[in-house]
Amino acid sequence: MKRFLSVENLTLVAIFVGIAFGYYFKEAALAIEVVGQIYLALLKMLIIPLVVASIFVAITSLEDTSELKSIGLLAFAYYLTTTALAVTLGLVIFNIFDPGAGKAVLTDLTSSAHLPQPKELSISDFLLSFIPTNIFEALSKGAILPIIFFTILFSVAALFIETPKRQILFNFFDAINDSMMVLAKWVITLTPLGVFALLAATVAKHGLEPIFNLYSYVLTVLAALAIHAVVVLPAIAYLIGRFNPYRYFWQIKEAPLIAFSTASSSATLPVSIEVAETKGGVSKKVAGFVLPLGATINMDGTALYESIAVMFIANLSGVELSLAQQITIFITATFASIGAAGIPGAGLVMMTMILDSVGLPAEYIALIITVDRFLDMFRTAINNWGDLLGAKIIDSLLARSRS
Ligand code: ASP
Repeated sequence: MKRFLSVENLTLVAIFVGIAFGYYFKEAALAIEVVGQIYLALLKMLIIPLVVASIFVAITSLEDTSELKSIGLLAFAYYLTTTALAVTLGLVIFNIFDPGAGKAVLTDLTSSAHLPQPKELSISDFLLSFIPTNIFEALSKGAILPIIFFTILFSVAALFIETPKRQILFNFFDAINDSMMVLAKWVITLTPLGVFALLAATVAKHGLEPIFNLYSYVLTVLAALAIHAVVVLPAIAYLIGRFNPYRYFWQIKEAPLIAFSTASSSATLPVSIEVAETKGGVSKKVAGFVLPLGATINMDGTALYESIAVMFIANLSGVELSLAQQITIFITATFASIGAAGIPGAGLVMMTMILDSVGLPAEYIALIITVDRFLDMFRTAINNWGDLLGAKIIDSLLARSRS
């Protein structure tokens, strides 16, 4: 019984009950909208401390001995390249299939004056918008890109100070990170209630059409994930790592399968390290460094899904995104996947930041929440597969450079 009453199962029930409730009891559904808004506010409350602490901890985990430096550089190069490829693939596949195009169900809303319109930015404004002239102002405004920019520079600078001093900062941010994870788990227990209220209110306001539109969105995300997992990542492994990626997958398949079932990169980490070392032949040093860092910041599946989801939401909102806004999505989706915690639904939390960056209301995640848990399983498995391939590629490169 207790097993059946898990958050995942209750969320699944809440999805269906919420839709029916919103459809049949419009007034009541609108009255409880505030419950959904409270749930969203609680999620958003976690973003900044989580982003700052997880990036700081990840970067300052680098030791400054030369071997770890090269592992660190290779790891960051791999993470950034594959994440950028994933977002690009997401945007390309989206533009080919264009799910939800011409099905704007929220045009009436977006055209009303009280909702923010997508921002138009010149290139110089765009570049300057990365640099927080006052970090406390950026923090208080929740300007996520400048915060990330500052955190990266701050963390790299911390690598150059005396070790005991760095240790103090590390312990501080590590403790914040752990506490935020606990808090996130608490907020996640409210998911069934939040999902119920959000969906009921959305259906009451907009009818059921957005939900019927979702099949094209789901298929687009799954197709792009499949291409990334079966073609793009293995090609990198084959060309750069010079090993057979499919044979490697067979050796380490246990980890992506657990990632799929748990929808959590963090929960899968002990299994990933174990199978990479014992079955995949990755050295202890590389696996012990690249996999924990990867579970925190390397999420190809999440990055790809974020880009498609935001473009899809824009389509349903009847908003044409300019090239500058698509570039903003490219950058924010990359950082959102870096900042996302390795827990179920973390990608959805981070999506509010991408929506915000292109002037779409965060509440619109309600449009895709119905299928989020389902897609979470697939994207987490791809996140994990990307980490494991990265460890093997870096291990092969180091082994080759030594011989
Ligand atoms: N559940 C994903 C993970 O743990 C993160 C996400 O929600 O995209 O890797």
